[in-house]
Amino acid sequence: MGYNQQQEDTWKHLNEHISEWVEESKQHTSKGLVASYIPELANAPQDILGICIMDASGNTVVGGEFEFRFTLQSISKVFTLILALMDNGEDKVFSKVGMEPTGDNFNSMLKLELVEPGIPFNPLINAGAIAISSLIVGNGPKEQIERILLFFREIADNPTLEINQDVFQSESDTAHRNRSLAYFLKHNGVLDQAVDDVLNVYFSHCSVDVTCKDLARMALVLAHDGIDPIRNQRMIPRRFVQIAKTFMTTCGMYNASGEFAMHVGLPAKSGVSGGILTMVPGRYGIGAVGPALNRKGNSTAGVDLLSTLSQAYDWSLF
Ligand code: GLN
Repeated sequence: MGYNQQQEDTWKHLNEHISEWVEESKQHTSKGLVASYIPELANAPQDILGICIMDASGNTVVGGEFEFRFTLQSISKVFTLILALMDNGEDKVFSKVGMEPTGDNFNSMLKLELVEPGIPFNPLINAGAIAISSLIVGNGPKEQIERILLFFREIADNPTLEINQDVFQSESDTAHRNRSLAYFLKHNGVLDQAVDDVLNVYFSHCSVDVTCKDLARMALVLAHDGIDPIRNQRMIPRRFVQIAKTFMTTCGMYNASGEFAMHVGLPAKSGVSGGILTMVPGRYGIGAVGPALNRKGNSTAGVDLLSTLSQAYDWSLF
């Protein structure tokens, strides 16, 4: 059987089975809880699950509540990392953040004090992403936020992406822990700008509203090593996509990244709104959402659905 025939068969099979798989995985929503530490996020429905899988021509397979809107939250960290790399190059970025998983929760500050030189362990934990926000080029937070939004719109091929002001305000009003992380980083010499300005940038990129289709579209560019296969255009240097995918594999699901690599085996990034962005390298971009989270902050039903798919089609890279 030829390669194309096999891909066509997979696509057809996906189309036929996605609804039943979504229904099965949806049962896992009852095992999780919707995030409430950002009060606005607590309004999300507990029992939904949606997915969009996009191929290199832009065809999609969708299932469940795929039209549900949610904020990027930590998924945005992948793309701010890439923009910071494009703005500053590798050496500067990795003078401010490390390259290792922590094994701690995403908002932990433990290792900042325990391990010299007091820089965040990696760019995908909160401390690291706050440091990355400070590296985005721009004359002040307003310009930095505009540049980030333009970059996200460009990668998602969606000029309508906007910041959800209610979620932004809700996080900004209650982010005592992230504020303390940022002050700690400022003390350690990691942040050049004022703490409030950096956090303003960080909360803004976490608050960009998307759907599963936007995630799938953004992931498609990563799946094709920085070339958008639909517009046939290089969007990101290959090396920076390689760096992003490496971190997604080792740290993208926080301290459940090892477990996710075991069961799904694909580079991925989750967010506390319940979104997961992942991809089948060289083939599909995938976006999923299920707001009920496990204790590590990942969507219970989303992770379950991705394991089912990965096992059904032997998608694991390992
Ligand atoms: N904005 C959220 C925070 O900083 C992002 C965390 C997440 O999605 N895990 O807490």
